[in-house]
Amino acid sequence: MNNDRFEMMLEKRGIKPTAIRNLILKTMLDTDQTVSIPDLENKLISVDKSTIFRTITQFLSHNLVHCIDDGTGSLKYAVCREECDCSLADLHSHFYCESCNKTFCMRSLPVPVVDLPEGFTLHGVNYVMKGLCDKCSRTKR
Ligand SMILES: [Zn+2]
Ligand SMILES: [Zn+2]
Repeated sequence: MNNDRFEMMLEKRGIKPTAIRNLILKTMLDTDQTVSIPDLENKLISVDKSTIFRTITQFLSHNLVHCIDDGTGSLKYAVCREECDCSLADLHSHFYCESCNKTFCMRSLPVPVVDLPEGFTLHGVNYVMKGLCDKCSRTKR
């Protein structure tokens, strides 16, 4: 993967590419699961912590990444699919592995649609399943 790809992804979301933004986006795309801010700080020791925080906040507000509250107390972030605009129809489920403590995007599993009682308006869904991921299921058998 070259930098052009990251710059295109940033520009498509209206974010001006910089070396740091490219690096943070690349780091997030390199992992196969979601990352927390402390995860990013550990992976990017050379980058200032407040820069990481500001960059993620900016990515969030431009719908480049989405935020997952998996119930562990630390929020996780993952890069959105290209066509995602974080509307209700774009929401997918997440899976938290109780063995390796990783949280995965289940992009092929949209959040279940529920019928709310009258008078309630839905603005978001946080659907997190818990159990063992594929790797941990295999080693536990
Ligand atoms: Zn696991
Ligand atoms: Zn996700």
